[in-house]
Amino acid sequence: RFITFEGGEGTGKSTQVKRLAAALEAKKIATEVTREPGGSPGAEEIRNLVLTGDPARWNPLTEALLFYAARADHTERKIKPTLADGKWVICDRYSDSSYAYQGGGRGLARETVRRIEAIAIDDFKPDLTLILDMPVEIGLKRSIARQGNTETRFEEMDVAFHERMRKTFLDIARRNPDRCVVVPADREVDEVADAIWQTVKKRFRL
Ligand code: C5P
Repeated sequence: RFITFEGGEGTGKSTQVKRLAAALEAKKIATEVTREPGGSPGAEEIRNLVLTGDPARWNPLTEALLFYAARADHTERKIKPTLADGKWVICDRYSDSSYAYQGGGRGLARETVRRIEAIAIDDFKPDLTLILDMPVEIGLKRSIARQGNTETRFEEMDVAFHERMRKTFLDIARRNPDRCVVVPADREVDEVADAIWQTVKKRFRL
């Protein structure tokens, strides 16, 4: 099974990724955690490129192509082989982030993202996508407060940018009700983890 986590800055994705992986391991389900951008050696090199320096040096199309270049490598070299080994894969961000950041955030047309996606990963889709959702101001405050958060690029601290991203994620959830579940994330870590676990248990009949 392939499960992805999506959501804006400060929504607690990486914490919840670890919690879900631990819950699955406790059920004796071998689980591999990975993340984007990155997740394979080549894709990690692209990560270093896209998350450092001025993001405005690329137009949104170039940026989208770079993220999908990384995603194509990560998908073929890591995600698919791991699934073929019979393990579950949990990925911190995947293709929906490109619709949210490069699409909603930076204004690239949804159809353009869709066409790049078709080339890069074909019709490969997660079995379940958990979208962690909370008001933008709260997420941004949490993200700024977080120690050592050097990877959030400055443009993503812009509230309007983030509102567009959040709207895009909620839009994706509405359009893909079979794949996506929106998880309200503005509450205690344990409560969010529990909501996610109930969703996963029900979805995969664990
Ligand atoms: O997962 P995390 O929130 O740490 O994401 C790292 C960063 O990657 C985001 O803050 C964002 O700047 C960037 N990103 C992006 N476009 C994507 C995926 C991630 O700009 N498609």
